[in-house]
Amino acid sequence: MDTEHRSNFLRTQIQNDLNAGIVDRVVTRFPPEPNGYLHIGHAKSITVNFGLAEQFGGVCNLRFDDTNPEKESQRFIDAIKSDVSWLGYQWDGDVRYASSYFQQFYEWAVHLIESEKAYVCDLSADEAREYRGTLTTAGRDSPYRNRPIEENLRLFESMRAGEMEEGACVLRAKIDMASPNINLRDPTLYRIRKVAHHQTGDDWVIYPTYDFAHGQEDAIEGISHSICTLEFEDHKPLYDWFIENLPVPSRPRQFEFARLNVNFTVTSKRKLKLLVDSGVVSGWDDPRMPTIAGMRRRGYTPTALRHFCEEVGTSRSDGVVDVAMLESAVRNDLNRQAPRAMAVLNPLALELTNLDDAEILQIPNHPADEIMGKREVRLSPRIWIDREDFRQEANKKFKRLVLGKRVRLRGAYVIEAERCELDDQGEVIKVYASIVPQTLGGDPDDGVKAKGVIHWVDAETGVEAEIRSYDRLFTVEDPSRADNFDDVINPHSLLVTRGIVEMGLASVQPETRFQFEREGYFVADRYDHAAGAPVYNRVIGLRDTWTSHE
Ligand code: ATP
Ligand code: MG
Repeated sequence: MDTEHRSNFLRTQIQNDLNAGIVDRVVTRFPPEPNGYLHIGHAKSITVNFGLAEQFGGVCNLRFDDTNPEKESQRFIDAIKSDVSWLGYQWDGDVRYASSYFQQFYEWAVHLIESEKAYVCDLSADEAREYRGTLTTAGRDSPYRNRPIEENLRLFESMRAGEMEEGACVLRAKIDMASPNINLRDPTLYRIRKVAHHQTGDDWVIYPTYDFAHGQEDAIEGISHSICTLEFEDHKPLYDWFIENLPVPSRPRQFEFARLNVNFTVTSKRKLKLLVDSGVVSGWDDPRMPTIAGMRRRGYTPTALRHFCEEVGTSRSDGVVDVAMLESAVRNDLNRQAPRAMAVLNPLALELTNLDDAEILQIPNHPADEIMGKREVRLSPRIWIDREDFRQEANKKFKRLVLGKRVRLRGAYVIEAERCELDDQGEVIKVYASIVPQTLGGDPDDGVKAKGVIHWVDAETGVEAEIRSYDRLFTVEDPSRADNFDDVINPHSLLVTRGIVEMGLASVQPETRFQFEREGYFVADRYDHAAGAPVYNRVIGLRDTWTSHE
């Protein structure tokens, strides 16, 4: 599934900039805050930033926007690095951290104070909010706005030295309290936070705000195209103000695109954290989570995710993408690359009455791709079939096994059901069937007619496996709007059962994917699957079962 480049406004912009000589090398960055796991929306941003760099022969940085130490951690940093690599991208050089520029930001803050463009403000948070004004009314100048430079320098130094309490004061830019753009009404540049930082330890007790840091990080790294989502459009005049008023080494330009929203899904770290903290899911990488780590564990492929991100396009208009598109990208990729195998998820015993000895059959691993070869599958007189594939009586629409009727065993012979054994409740517990004589011992591809094909697993060599059948986590299109997640969680999003898988499936590496014939796509669980104790997750069914009955 080669992902073709469609044209979009960012590609056009960059091509034009290169043609016009405005930039000579494309340098982009992906700047996550390490305060949670990345989700499908971040996957979009990753493919945009790394993809543009790749397409135009440039580079892309991975930079942690770590200005808010309380909510951040090394664990999230590690998870994010692993997600980006898994998606198939390589960042330029070492991972970068906003925190490694803290000294530079501090010096630039001093520079602003010295040029009378920043001041220490003692208003409380509530007061500052009140002074800020609203969308329709201008703000008012802080009473501390005209502090002399010397006093500001002394106070800021004292903030830095830890001599002030948290919340006692902040450093603000001196711009325009009457600006129609609220972001320009003397925004906060530094706050006192007496917390240790995961990278800089106890070095700092003041931390720059995201807005003060972000544009300068780009300038330090020589980012040619600073790409972000539309909610930052209103911040651009502020970023430009910093760039104009500071002796920065380069001038990044910002371009915004619309966030990716997906129905039946939440794409907000805050909401995802709520799901984790409330125990609705087993963790950030629960296979039902729209996190990259969750989708990976679920069995989604990097190719499918990249393809999906390309398919949804990159534009400036907001919209909601149907999750069926994502699922279909996964299905298409797995149809192409997942070898076929057999697993019986709801086992019913079947005895082949006229097979004396076990046989070894050669069964193709893929119906359309010969390169995938064939595997040896043992057929002995006792096999498992799926309970759903047998009926004592049925009408013509039922194309599986019925008493007195024929069906083909996938990759093997045509059989005819002779009789069955029932338990006290009248439940079928065993089926007896015979191989149609003229096919026995011959080529399974023998031309004997049967109405249908069913899958099976050899009972002597098949291995019991834990099967985790996953489905969508939410039952409604817009779960973000629910007051309480409990009302919108799909109670059938996880069903754990035991099935029987072909012998070979017990010993594969975790994360190996298969199509279980007639059942769907499955992956050996990344963490819990072990040789001899197989655990398979259902990635996705063979067909979309949601769209039809909505
Ligand atoms: P969230 O709202 O989920 O917390 P965020 O934007 O706060 O996300 P960051 O860590 O700041 O998370 O995001 C890193 C980058 O990913 C940013 O450039 C951001 O614009 C981008 N991004 C986040 N969510 C999406 C999305 N849904 N679609 C596209 N890009 C996104
Ligand atoms: Mg953010």
